[in-house]
Amino acid sequence: MNSSRHDPQSNPLRAETVLVTAGRDTKAQKGFVNPPVVHGSTVLYPTAEDLHAHRGEFRYGRHGTPTTKALQEALMALEGPQCAGVGLVPSGLSAITTALLSVLKAGDHLLVGDNIYRPSRNFCDGLLARYGVETTYFDPLIGTGVAEFFKPNTAAVLVEAPGSQTFEMADIPAIAEVAHARGALVIDDNTWATPLYRRALEQGVDISMQAATKYIGGHSDIMFGTISANEKTWPLILETIRQLGVCAGPDDVFLSLRGLRTLSVRLAQHQRSGLEMARWLAARPEVVRVLHPAMESDPGHAIWRRDFTGASGLFSIVLKPAPQKAVDAMLDAVKLFGMGYSWGGFESLVIPFDCDGYRTATNWAPGGPSLRLHIGLENVEDLKADLERGFAAFNAA
Ligand SMILES: *Cc1c(COP(=O)(O)O)cnc(C)c1O
Repeated sequence: MNSSRHDPQSNPLRAETVLVTAGRDTKAQKGFVNPPVVHGSTVLYPTAEDLHAHRGEFRYGRHGTPTTKALQEALMALEGPQCAGVGLVPSGLSAITTALLSVLKAGDHLLVGDNIYRPSRNFCDGLLARYGVETTYFDPLIGTGVAEFFKPNTAAVLVEAPGSQTFEMADIPAIAEVAHARGALVIDDNTWATPLYRRALEQGVDISMQAATKYIGGHSDIMFGTISANEKTWPLILETIRQLGVCAGPDDVFLSLRGLRTLSVRLAQHQRSGLEMARWLAARPEVVRVLHPAMESDPGHAIWRRDFTGASGLFSIVLKPAPQKAVDAMLDAVKLFGMGYSWGGFESLVIPFDCDGYRTATNWAPGGPSLRLHIGLENVEDLKADLERGFAAFNAA
């Protein structure tokens, strides 16, 4: 893939090495490689004077522990020098909602890409609307054309590239330039690429969130979210997290840190297998389109090449027009591709989707039933055989 952007001046270590070394304090851990899983609420102060001064590195479990500190340091190092802090929250969705609450107030206007993760929309149309924030959705492919949607009270823009399900590639640096010229902040959902394959804060994004539930955890065994913020927005994120009282369970924090250590090898394999499967699927007669920005034929490919150093294992396909029962027969015939929500674990997944029902700024009419695939760490020949079984059932139905 693209060579990793490495500036030896600012950081002598490359991203893979950062993933292995960052956030480790062997001395504090009494020689152990990993930090302990600190289950803790109360932190004791040795003297009254220390208590009055809130002296000490840790003050209360909700505000942080040696385990959260290790993960925050590792994520900051991965995000790069623009990252001023990382907030840890109990899910990817809470990372989005906390980021939005940090920068918006009653009377504000919010711009949101039409291809955003659907539960993020529910928050904008639900709680945010109730608290007096107005949301306008825009075509994510509009680039600098987003300028026409700004109002005097537009405070933030929420984007995701590539977007959930459809993998449309928004030009986030271009959108950020327009937003900053109008005094608005940019929040992005970087779950697909992770900071390993796209350093969002270096591309004009002010707050970049991750559903760590996905690739950072990597094993389909946690719910977790992270919020990376730049100098300007970190105080807002920290204050909001403190006031809301959100914090993350120590086991999930530990498992996220453990996931980070192997992220580079897992993602490289997801990328390799994902692209091989995408190319194989593109040649199948049942498939009319593959939606994968790392494929040369994809309309978002140029942006992907420019802004990303790699691709993950999640993409979609559009099947030739067929009745629902043919699609269902395919879903029931595959065995290695599990049917279920989420992604980013070691295992392959498939779900059908139809986003035409909820998109409001654009029409999504791909010309056939659509499936989103997550390519796991199984052998690709076994995955092809599994999908061949699925296509046989699709054709027979
Ligand atoms: C899954 C997902 C989320 C939400 O993460 P949870 O941990 O499930 O709350 C947010 N954004 C994207 C793109 C996702 O795929």
